[in-house]
Amino acid sequence: MNKENIQAFGNLVDRADRILIISHIRPDGDAVGSLIGLGLILEELGKEINLVLEDGVPKVFHHLTGFDRVFKEAAGIYDLVITVDCSDIDRIGSVLDEYGEPDVNIDHHPTNTHFASLNLIREDAVATVELIYDLTLALSYPLNQPIAEALLTGLLTDSLGFRTSNSSPRTLRIAAELQEQGADLQALYRKAMLEKSYEAIRYWGKGLGRIQRDGGLVWTSLSLEDRRETEYPGRDDADLVNVLTRIRDVDICVIFVEQKNGTVKVSWRSRPGFDVSLIATQFGGGGHKPAAGADINGSLDQIQADVLEATRKFLTSGE
Ligand code: AMP
Ligand code: MN
Ligand code: MN
Repeated sequence: MNKENIQAFGNLVDRADRILIISHIRPDGDAVGSLIGLGLILEELGKEINLVLEDGVPKVFHHLTGFDRVFKEAAGIYDLVITVDCSDIDRIGSVLDEYGEPDVNIDHHPTNTHFASLNLIREDAVATVELIYDLTLALSYPLNQPIAEALLTGLLTDSLGFRTSNSSPRTLRIAAELQEQGADLQALYRKAMLEKSYEAIRYWGKGLGRIQRDGGLVWTSLSLEDRRETEYPGRDDADLVNVLTRIRDVDICVIFVEQKNGTVKVSWRSRPGFDVSLIATQFGGGGHKPAAGADINGSLDQIQADVLEATRKFLTSGE
């Protein structure tokens, strides 16, 4: 992201009336926060906004103003199509199948494939919301309490509450500015990061019950049966992988989540010094050095065996 492409973005927005904004499947706080934050900003500028997430907004973000304005499908004709927090086109799901390539791609993943006409990427940003904040500063866009709450949510969730190694003094300064705009940091932290449903904690129990360790590698899995038994309504890991990262002296954690469509969602987490995005890309996924994921076709057992083999190889090759 530089002066030229920020200005190019401003020009595209100036010329557009109907704008579609999309983020990725199984949306996290940065996906939702970027989507709603940018949507509310552009609406303040008088634009007609359509916000789309193929999987909808997870319950944990239903306190954000504008969550009920997010649809699961695009409809109609748009002057401008923007993706936020999507590293590649597949991450959008099938929302754009009838629309073609997006116009603008705003993201912070090092594995971003630059799939749009205009790509605003900053790899050192903790979250995509940080880029949206920078755009509002550079282009003098409005910032108010609901916008600040959406942006602070993305900052908090992608930085795991300012715990990731890329959380910088600047991250905290942005958070402070968003607090000054009226965002309640403690309340947002509790809602987005701490509170879990009873079902989610029981689902964790299933995964924790079969956790395994081999030296610096820890892994577990969650099956469709676990989901049914605990009545957990999501198709993600309910953030269990971030619980695994709390285990002492572990280099890499992996979690396998069985999906209804015959794929398995794999998530890797690592301590500094181990770039798990390198393993994820081997399996068609992507992400960041400390946190990466992939959606892989096949059975839970087979994928678990393949991924653990590749991850062990990666660890022993001394990367
Ligand atoms: P997750 O394990 O889903 O929390 O994702 C960790 C990181 O990996 C995030 O930055 C995601 O954007 C990225 N990621 C997860 N799944 C995929 C995928 N299938 N393809 C590309 N990137 C992914
Ligand atoms: Mn994300
Ligand atoms: Mn992100």
